Amino acid sequence: MQILTAGSGITVLFKRIPSKLVSCKYYIRCGSVDEVLPEQEGLCHALEHMLFQGTTQRSWQDQVHDFNKVGAYSNAETDFGHTAYEIHVAQDRFESAFEILSDQVYNATLPNDRWEIEKGTIISEIEDFQDTPAELLNMLAMKDGFGPNYKEPIGNIENIKNAKIENLAYFKDTFYRGRNIFICVAGNLSSKALLKIIGKYDKWQPQRCRVRRPPEFKFDPRVLLVEREHSQQSYITWIKPIKRYTRVREEMSLDIGLYMLYNYLYEDIVWDRGLCYNLRPMYFMDVEGCECIYINAACSNGRLEQIVEDVPKAIDVFLKTQMTSDKIEEAKLAWVRDALDAEESSSIITSWMGHAYLNNRTKDPFDEIFKGAPRIKDHTIRGILTECLIADTKLCVMGSDSAKSPFYNY
Ligand SMILES: [Zn+2]
Repeated sequence: MQILTAGSGITVLFKRIPSKLVSCKYYIRCGSVDEVLPEQEGLCHALEHMLFQGTTQRSWQDQVHDFNKVGAYSNAETDFGHTAYEIHVAQDRFESAFEILSDQVYNATLPNDRWEIEKGTIISEIEDFQDTPAELLNMLAMKDGFGPNYKEPIGNIENIKNAKIENLAYFKDTFYRGRNIFICVAGNLSSKALLKIIGKYDKWQPQRCRVRRPPEFKFDPRVLLVEREHSQQSYITWIKPIKRYTRVREEMSLDIGLYMLYNYLYEDIVWDRGLCYNLRPMYFMDVEGCECIYINAACSNGRLEQIVEDVPKAIDVFLKTQMTSDKIEEAKLAWVRDALDAEESSSIITSWMGHAYLNNRTKDPFDEIFKGAPRIKDHTIRGILTECLIADTKLCVMGSDSAKSPFYNY
């Protein structure tokens, strides 16, 4: 990975890969952690939608039409700490596509009439999200655990209905500026050719950025019970706060350890005993102060009590019997193989570079894995996993009243 500076002064992370497809992503350090007020939750996501609603150079139809005309796939994402706008396009069309992307990022006009229409699209997106029980329970669990300062990037319907275009524009004016903006590119161009194209269209300016102030969180470990009427299925989330692991080696250790745990739980609870489906431990480190491990499960109502009892026991057995040097070695290799697969995709490369740079890392993330993973000591993985899994977890259950009744005094 090269870290370059284009003519405009913008930072460009670039990885040359032998692919005829170019992926390019504008990153902006603007996300739900910047939504300080309750009524701001979801507005960064809404702003992201509005960057597709017309610029000084193009109407919203022109934006769609022009991306189509050059055969570029265009998309965007809003997360806790960033918003990103991306294109994937054939190499010989990259220049034309980059011009449209750059226009989108710098010249959006946020027209009020389009905002009123776009609200509907965003609301149905939120409804879809809330119709997915596992996603909904996760969100409720995080909010109940970490309190109202935890903001979900997708937002809520109430806020979208009430927001004025000025409320969205505030985030563009405040955060879409200076070093908050950078570009990631993966493709088979020379760095000289790439910088020439970026320099021609990018409108970056060296503006001052506001320092991001992370909100405060206090964890509430009490059981959360959520009603889901007439449901034949119950949903469970366990959350456990962990400390902030900032070093790559620690993050990799956690990843490899959870990969091992996933395989074990899947085999024992899901495959052998058929108690539930989808039992996956994950970590969350996107918001400072909300770092946690979470495990989701879904099962039939009759199995709920058993699952709640058996999963912590299985984790215990895992820690005592499965963290052998042989098994850790095997997991490391499998995990590196997955990373090798990821390196085949230009869009994953830009995302990984962006993730690293957002976390103030400047080394090639793939290099760090390939060189670093084999050198991780067994006891580092064991130590981190034990630290992360033992003791108090917050139990969150969503189901019909009768299904969750055993947990009222839990
Ligand atoms: Zn959206």
